[in-house]
Amino acid sequence: MKSYELLSLQKLNSRYADELKEAACRVIDSGWYLRGEETDALEHEMALYLGVPYVVSVANGLDALRLILKAYIELHRLQPGDEVIVPANTFIASVLAVTDCGLVPRFVEPSVYTHNLDISLIEPNITPHTRAIMVVHLYGRACWSAELEQIARNHNLLLIEDNAQALGALCDDGRRTGSLGDAAGTSFYPGKNLGALGDAGMVTTHDKELADMVRALGNYGGYQRYKYDYKGLNSRLDELQATLLRVKLRYLDDENRYRDSLAHMYNSFVRTPLCTLPHLPQVQGTHVWHQYVIRTRHRDAFMQYMSSNGVVTGIHYPIPPHKQLAYKEYNALSLPVTEQLAGEVVSVPIAPYLTEDDIRYIADVINNYVE
Ligand SMILES: *Cc1c(COP(=O)(O)O)cnc(C)c1O
Repeated sequence: MKSYELLSLQKLNSRYADELKEAACRVIDSGWYLRGEETDALEHEMALYLGVPYVVSVANGLDALRLILKAYIELHRLQPGDEVIVPANTFIASVLAVTDCGLVPRFVEPSVYTHNLDISLIEPNITPHTRAIMVVHLYGRACWSAELEQIARNHNLLLIEDNAQALGALCDDGRRTGSLGDAAGTSFYPGKNLGALGDAGMVTTHDKELADMVRALGNYGGYQRYKYDYKGLNSRLDELQATLLRVKLRYLDDENRYRDSLAHMYNSFVRTPLCTLPHLPQVQGTHVWHQYVIRTRHRDAFMQYMSSNGVVTGIHYPIPPHKQLAYKEYNALSLPVTEQLAGEVVSVPIAPYLTEDDIRYIADVINNYVE
């Protein structure tokens, strides 16, 4: 019997092992480990890749989002107590960034087809306290439209992207996620489409004032050593991760295209009424398939069946933020679409090292499932 992990970081990175080792050795030998040539080069390459003028590397994806919001507060474009519209169906970090800055999340339900924030539900959720919208390109699928931009303009709201799962994705008009809103936070957590070999993150923006503030806040609150203008944090991406990310960035587009072909294979090979398959977007490149997520009613039995046939599956995510113990104050909210998805979603393996035969095999296992 074949066996598949949900994601093998070993298989993922061994494809580039020689280049990664060579790059790491260069940094080890250089004697320079934080804020140097590699970080500068990565920021420059990412700016070109995304089509944004300003890129600030930080320690992780959650910090990227926190620092964006903290910077807006420091710039008086947000203040504690303001409301931020967030998708109810997201990884908790999107919401943690909001509450960590003393801002108030306003949870909005997803579309059951895209799993992303339902843009048509934003306006009914705008209150006199709303100052920003955070969209999350969940599972790698761009959550963006001209209508969204219009809503933000009409109500004078900041538009922030949580781009942690979608680096390399395009919106319908061909711009990259991470370049669409006022600012975006990206994560290079090892399992993300562009993964470091440790923690790393980045803020990308068209706004110089914001970029400068994020850079200061991530550097203890100052631009110069021993001179501090704000109460900051220490949030840096190190030279070792930067050099490894530069190697992997060169392969990201190919890997994302390959993921897309795997997702299309799954959608054509899997045919069982017991599973609902992800909705394929109409515009190519608008989904980079960080996860391939199906839905099934008796999830525990399904996952058990899959694993006894050698296929490890996962759940992204089993408990939505508003139902977490950490957010007791929101536990009584009823967000039925989010709660239904949380009860039914299953992620099956998708990764650049899988072949068509692997997808056929996993699809056959899924097709042989009986309730
Ligand atoms: C991974 C992730 C984050 C946080 O990134 P870290 O680098 O793990 O801090 C934030 N939002 C979403 C949607 C994520 O998937």
